[in-house]
Amino acid sequence: MSDVEFNKIALVGIGLIGSSLARAIAEKGLAKEIAISTRSEATLARARELGLGTSYHASARDAVRDADLVIVSVPVGASGAVAADIAPALKPGAIVSDVGSTKASVISQMKPHMPDGVHFIAGHPVAGTEYSGPDAGFATLFEGRWCILTPTPDADPVQVARLRHFWETLGSLVEEMDAEHHDKVLAIVSHLPHIIAYNIVGTAEDLETVTESEVIKYSASGFRDFTRLAASDPVMWRDVCLHNKDAILEMLSRFSEDLAYLQRAIRWGEGDKLFELFTRTRDVRRSIIEAGQDVAAPNFGRYPEK
Ligand code: NAP
Repeated sequence: MSDVEFNKIALVGIGLIGSSLARAIAEKGLAKEIAISTRSEATLARARELGLGTSYHASARDAVRDADLVIVSVPVGASGAVAADIAPALKPGAIVSDVGSTKASVISQMKPHMPDGVHFIAGHPVAGTEYSGPDAGFATLFEGRWCILTPTPDADPVQVARLRHFWETLGSLVEEMDAEHHDKVLAIVSHLPHIIAYNIVGTAEDLETVTESEVIKYSASGFRDFTRLAASDPVMWRDVCLHNKDAILEMLSRFSEDLAYLQRAIRWGEGDKLFELFTRTRDVRRSIIEAGQDVAAPNFGRYPEK
């Protein structure tokens, strides 16, 4: 058996991320057994219909028994309760990881429950869509996307390397960093954009002088690009905000200061300041395309390329 293969992988939570993992693990032949568990009967039945695993469990504790790798893919606010539930059934030597969008909070919720001999290594695939549930997943979700591992200083480097190799086999680029740094980076690249999107879409909906039908009718002028983010799962994003509070508040305060600067430049007709900022930000878009994290096609490829 190569070092990326596991006899049994248990997936706790089988929504967008869990079901993408199930599909990718099966496609790459990374496990002999894929045990699936989720809290609701309906989602478990759907996972079974989709044939996402080799066994299906209403109890997470049953699913993780004898597993060599356990990946928890539930909203971050539920991580502690899941860890407490599965802890008594974890096999010594098993790796337990997660995919949560915030890391310091998940580590503080899960790690204290881990029995001796179990390797807990938190992780976050920086890949997703605005859709949820087991139907939303697909095997290629992680290809060419970053997965950030946030091992604590006491983590066994051999097991970290094993988990790294697992994600690389799914097509991810893997980086390691400490959890606090992860939370700051993600606050600006992911959490703030979602909060801004939720806010702007909420503001447009509340406007009294512009009707909702006008907002929708003319949305192609910019508004609709925010609606993709603002359509993301409310439970997941409520939990992200509550569990990365400090880093998000720090970034929001920077954002508010910069917005006030922009507001002032518009009020005083300072076109040079506006031009300088808008030129700088255009370069960021170019860099993202050069890094292979988006396509260069106009309007996100909505129109055929010329
Ligand atoms: P999802 O599609 O909504 O699926 C959530 C899964 O968690 C379902 O199996 C659900 O079970 C279960 N669940 C929900 N609440 C729970 C609770 N209180 N206790 C136990 N299980 C619960 O979510 P997802 O998009 O896969 O997100 C899962 C994790 O991945 C989150 O921590 C999120 O931060 C992280 N993440 C998401 C993205 C993204 O773009 N969506 C990207 C990277 C990381 P039932 O359906 O049976 O209720």
